[in-house]
Amino acid sequence: MPSQQPFDVYDVTIIGAGPTGLFAAFYAAGMRGMKTKIIEALDQVGGQLAVLYPEKYIYDVAGFPKILAKDLVKQLEIQATSYKPVIVLGERVEELKYIDNNIIELVTNKGIHFTKTVIICAGHGAFSPRKLNNLSVDRFEGRGVYYQVRDKWEFRGKRILIVGGGDSAVDWALNLKDIAKEVTLIHRRTEFRAHEGSVIELFHSPVRVLVPFEIKEAHGGERLEAVTIFNNKTGEEMTLEVDAVILQLGYLVDVSVFKKWGLDIVGNAIKVNGRMETNLPGVYAAGDIANPVDSIKLNLIVIGFAQAAIAVNVAKNYIDPKASIFPGHSSERRMA
Ligand SMILES: Cc1cc2nc3c(=O)[nH]c(=O)nc-3n(C[C@H](O)[C@H](O)[C@H](O)COP(=O)(O)OP(=O)(O)OC[C@H]3O[C@@H](n4cnc5c(N)ncnc54)[C@H](O)[C@@H]3O)c2cc1C
Repeated sequence: MPSQQPFDVYDVTIIGAGPTGLFAAFYAAGMRGMKTKIIEALDQVGGQLAVLYPEKYIYDVAGFPKILAKDLVKQLEIQATSYKPVIVLGERVEELKYIDNNIIELVTNKGIHFTKTVIICAGHGAFSPRKLNNLSVDRFEGRGVYYQVRDKWEFRGKRILIVGGGDSAVDWALNLKDIAKEVTLIHRRTEFRAHEGSVIELFHSPVRVLVPFEIKEAHGGERLEAVTIFNNKTGEEMTLEVDAVILQLGYLVDVSVFKKWGLDIVGNAIKVNGRMETNLPGVYAAGDIANPVDSIKLNLIVIGFAQAAIAVNVAKNYIDPKASIFPGHSSERRMA
């Protein structure tokens, strides 16, 4: 969607359309009648759920005993868009400046947005997958080398090598084992960081697990055809014929952009108080990006939902001091 015209001032602009940002958008537009915009760096909504684990079940969101991450995103999107917030995709917010005491200017890589308040729901910052720094591998990016699985059916009948020892690597190995022709997982250590139960399941599954192995070289023509791996203890090498390599080496966290805006950062997150206020007036943070002092930081979806509701209600009262912070009960209003 294109950027809005200058001086089209929103009541609230939410940075990031992960679960926290989507819920904040619903809350601001639907519960508080605020003129609302969300700006998301990626070309899709859903944050970590959409990018990192769309096919995984989530069990700890209230009201859903079990829901696929991609389906939760769909529900959140339906809830948020019912109240017509403006959703701007594919724009990364790079600067935040005050025009005067009441209006904030947000500069993205594509345009400028004006707003009275900002709620930062940016997770761990803009995503950037950790790479191997191996040129022979890099040259097959998008032609057999992947950093994320957008659609698991793309790997049907394929020979797959998964690299990594965390939850994402192990979960994708388990998820793809019944769809792919064969799945091999290599990890450079003998211990796994993944959930203990998943590791036990992995070792009882048909997935071939090789540790401590790393990639030495990728081979192929137009597309990836094979990968040479080596045992980093013994030096033993083997070449595997594969159609795809899925690298699950984690994501880089970069909150430096928020530091430049003058925000207080504590432990790679933005410091907030119990009202989700940052040290900048009219600027709030919620979800994984927020570090509430004197409270407990838990990077969980439900925590982000609650923090989003607090931030929106406080922001409403900030721009309209006559408005009560308590929004009333949704069950008692006429909603769309
Ligand atoms: C493998 C895995 C499994 C998980 N399982 C669970 C689970 O079962 N239950 C649970 O509660 N939690 C789980 N989590 C954690 C949960 O996903 C996070 O707590 C949640 O995604 C945080 O939501 P968020 O909206 O705060 O941030 P995110 O989901 O990280 O979304 C932030 C969004 O902001 C965007 N953004 C960042 N910077 C900018 C910028 N400058 N401009 C514009 N956009 C920007 C990003 O692109 C992103 O889309 C899991 C996490 C992982 C990795």
